[in-house]
Amino acid sequence: MSDSWTCPASTKASRTSNPIRAIVDKVLANAKPRTDGVSRIPLSLGDPAAFGNLNPPAALTNAVSASALGNSNNGYVPAAGLPPAREAVASYYSTAAVPLKADDVVMASGCSGALELVITAMLNEGENLLVPNPGFPLYEVVAKSHGAEVKKYNLDPKTNWECDLAHMESLIDCRTRGILINNPSNPCGSVFSESHLELIVKLAAKHRLPIVADEVYGGMCWGPKPFIQIADVAAKLGWPAPVITATGLAKQFLCPGWRVGWLVFNDTSFGAIAPIKAGVNALANVVLGASHPIQSALPKIFAPETEEVKKEIADFRAATAATLQANSDFTCSALSAIPGLKVVPSSGAMYVMVEVLTDMFDDSVTDDVSFTGLLLDETNVFALPGSCFGAKNFFRVVFCAPQDVLADAYKRIEGFCAGRMKK
Ligand SMILES: *Cc1c(COP(=O)(O)O)cnc(C)c1O
Repeated sequence: MSDSWTCPASTKASRTSNPIRAIVDKVLANAKPRTDGVSRIPLSLGDPAAFGNLNPPAALTNAVSASALGNSNNGYVPAAGLPPAREAVASYYSTAAVPLKADDVVMASGCSGALELVITAMLNEGENLLVPNPGFPLYEVVAKSHGAEVKKYNLDPKTNWECDLAHMESLIDCRTRGILINNPSNPCGSVFSESHLELIVKLAAKHRLPIVADEVYGGMCWGPKPFIQIADVAAKLGWPAPVITATGLAKQFLCPGWRVGWLVFNDTSFGAIAPIKAGVNALANVVLGASHPIQSALPKIFAPETEEVKKEIADFRAATAATLQANSDFTCSALSAIPGLKVVPSSGAMYVMVEVLTDMFDDSVTDDVSFTGLLLDETNVFALPGSCFGAKNFFRVVFCAPQDVLADAYKRIEGFCAGRMKK
């Protein structure tokens, strides 16, 4: 027997790694320690609760508090979720064209948990899912952990980050099991038009693929294009392709730490995704779903009993969008005035992507990673390099912070850029 004793980790564990961590840990590890008292401004955190200025509506916090105090919501819930919560969500997302039942909704631990369930239910080893680039890294992390793959279709900054549909179609092969879209987009802050969504539905239908729609930022948009659920577009077209929607409380209700999200199976015409739904239900039995007290508050906000609460929720949504719009406008105008930067305007979610025009900078700024690393060193402002999302030479700004904090950050960025211009 040898003296050393090591317990190896599983293949699945060793296949699991978040690309953001690899890039960010390197930037942070290289950051110089500060002695000058200049505060860190993290424009990197995709967390609306990070600065304390954006909070859930009282109707929701009161409902959660009441459900904890009552001692009647302490037990396990059915794996697919609490029936009244599933019903409330189903009724909220139902339209005449999309009549949903409680059975079409599966609760999960956040939208991430919902995405993990559906991606796991869809993909075998060696099979693939089409995902956006730039995009949220989770899809790839989950697929790869199962030995499956993602194929990345391009979003085009010249068309405000619409999908390059020709590229998307060129990636489809006999092992493709679905097309994932993220609208409104993290990291792009873009919103798809109805006509663009129609083209995606038609492409999915042509290749008999289901659509997985990450709509965790649904309704968080402003500007000329309203948010339209792709399920509604598919319904209008007569359901040429089924849609599985993943969303949750996290961003729309400003409480990501509460960890409640869900899947909605929009399969009203032909049952094509019934096996995936059965698979998700089987997988949901492993962990027994999301927190009971939080789920039990969902009917209060998705099926309010009084007009007063209904109005409170509507006002809350409008106020959140108005704050985000004001911050977005402020951000886009401040950053587009800085030589060396080019902003792709944002009209949704909590993000804007900013291009670093590397040719205008001196030799120290070679790409987005060196730009964000040097910016951190010099100014203590941290933004995620676009490489984390597959967008080299961009950086992502989260504009949730109060405007005085944003103003301070953008002044520092301006000074930094001026000092690094090519002489
Ligand atoms: C934040 C985010 C999620 C995860 O939401 P949780 O409910 O907190 O798990 C999923 N998709 C995108 C695009 C996100 O930005």
